[in-house]
Amino acid sequence: MLDRAHNRPALPPEIARRRTFAIISHPDAGKTTLTEKFLLYGGAIQMAGQVRAKGEARRTRSDFMQMEKDRGISVSASAMSFDFETFRFNLVDTPGHSDFSEDTYRTLTAVDAAIMVIDGAKGVESQTQKLFEVCRLRDLPILTFCNKMDREARDTFEIIDEIQENLAIDVTPASWPIGQGRDFLGCYDILRDRLELMDRADRNKVAETVRLDGLDDPKMADHIPPAMLAQLREEVEMARELMPAFDRQALLDGTLTPIWFGSAINSFGVRELMDGIGRYGPEPQPQKAEPRQIAPEEEKVTGFVFKVQANMDPKHRDRVAFVRMASGHFKRGMKLTHVRSKKPMAISNPVLFLASDRELAEEAWAGDIMGIPNHGQLRIGDTLTEGEALRVAGIPSFAPELLQNCRAGDPMKAKHLDKALMQFAEEGAAKVFRPMLGSGFIVGVVGALQFEVLASRIELEYGLPVRFEPSQFTSARWVSGPADATDRFVQANKGHIARDNDDDIVYLTRLQWDIDRVARDHPDVRLTATKEMM
Ligand code: GDP
Repeated sequence: MLDRAHNRPALPPEIARRRTFAIISHPDAGKTTLTEKFLLYGGAIQMAGQVRAKGEARRTRSDFMQMEKDRGISVSASAMSFDFETFRFNLVDTPGHSDFSEDTYRTLTAVDAAIMVIDGAKGVESQTQKLFEVCRLRDLPILTFCNKMDREARDTFEIIDEIQENLAIDVTPASWPIGQGRDFLGCYDILRDRLELMDRADRNKVAETVRLDGLDDPKMADHIPPAMLAQLREEVEMARELMPAFDRQALLDGTLTPIWFGSAINSFGVRELMDGIGRYGPEPQPQKAEPRQIAPEEEKVTGFVFKVQANMDPKHRDRVAFVRMASGHFKRGMKLTHVRSKKPMAISNPVLFLASDRELAEEAWAGDIMGIPNHGQLRIGDTLTEGEALRVAGIPSFAPELLQNCRAGDPMKAKHLDKALMQFAEEGAAKVFRPMLGSGFIVGVVGALQFEVLASRIELEYGLPVRFEPSQFTSARWVSGPADATDRFVQANKGHIARDNDDDIVYLTRLQWDIDRVARDHPDVRLTATKEMM
């Protein structure tokens, strides 16, 4: 496990002020609204419209495709950097649709923390639970925002219990709601002992703050009706008795999540949450790599690609590789080594997704997310260094859950299909397998919607109509083991063998029974459902 904040040396101030995180939530809980408010407080007002456009575009299938075509929006909203107080926040967008869970997983390898947004009326929903499990695999620190408190919400204790039970994580209230629904007045800020009062008349107004001297402060009675005040005092006392106190180390270890209550649409509770991320959230963390871990304070620059996206202009095959800076202080024009190919790369036009628009990055520090335009050299999982042969570890590739044959609609253009599919495989948008026998391609994805998106992009970007047809196979497994054993296995199963876009051997099948049989008949051969991208 990574050493998070235990005995870590003090980071250079520019690195120490960075907070790199993602927001996870079930659709409709308020992720887009919260992101907008973050940007508002981060001084990036124009951006808010773009995020909204994206949020709404996601709602329907056809609009989703439009969004995929409209590269501008999705590219610039993939990572956003803004300043808040003394902090630099890097917010990395996780794809909203559940079909893109692999993408989400990789995004979460590029952040140091996650904000979990839940709807106060709905509690922990299915997608929240799934995404949480992914964060848990990496022991990511999680800060929770319980949204929509301006509507009828569940009882506060019940919400906290549900998180504790369903997600098996300790919860500590950072704030406590005063009333709910139409009677929601605001919150008592437990961590800072003050009242935050919501202004219903003006959605963009920052809440009024009343500093207090403990829960018994008589000033409270000026703002809260007696019955609600009595209830608040009783509840907070009970919460203090029943729930663990805030403990930063437990947050950093991923065993405790502080929860803030608010209403994103009313801009309420958002600043307190941001303040929490800044004050208690993790600094840029060490990165797991081979043959050694990378520490953010190292002077030499390292970074890794966690996402690749086709560029805005479909007529050009340019792509943007999203790179998480793992260490050092990068300056524009630097020559870095692309470790996989051992070739130098001059990084001359990197992009930071700052405030309202993309900007050329003059510099970047460990923790930042930088976009590097390229013609396909950079792939997911690639590491950039100042020469050392380090490879960032832990970026997974999952076996696809759906397989289909892919054919060019126009046989004259069939050779372009190869190129198009390779591009999408390298972007991480699909798995592409070439069967050992016969011709054509088998394409694998995690969710059915991805086939549609692929077909539309291949047509749009390559002018090539394609057809996806049912495949005789339903599962793919990567094959590994000693060379002689894998050779024997491949020769005995030619009809089931294919190569992926990295030329690794894959076993295709439609029956779990087949997979079990391999374990029996070829004990030295390993079939795996994930492979680490190196
Ligand atoms: P996402 O799917 O998680 O990105 O959710 P959105 O931010 O798009 O919000 C979903 C819906 O909930 C939208 O209609 C929002 O206007 C609404 N919404 C977001 N935050 C709040 C809130 O604090 N209170 C209320 N009443 N509605 C909200």
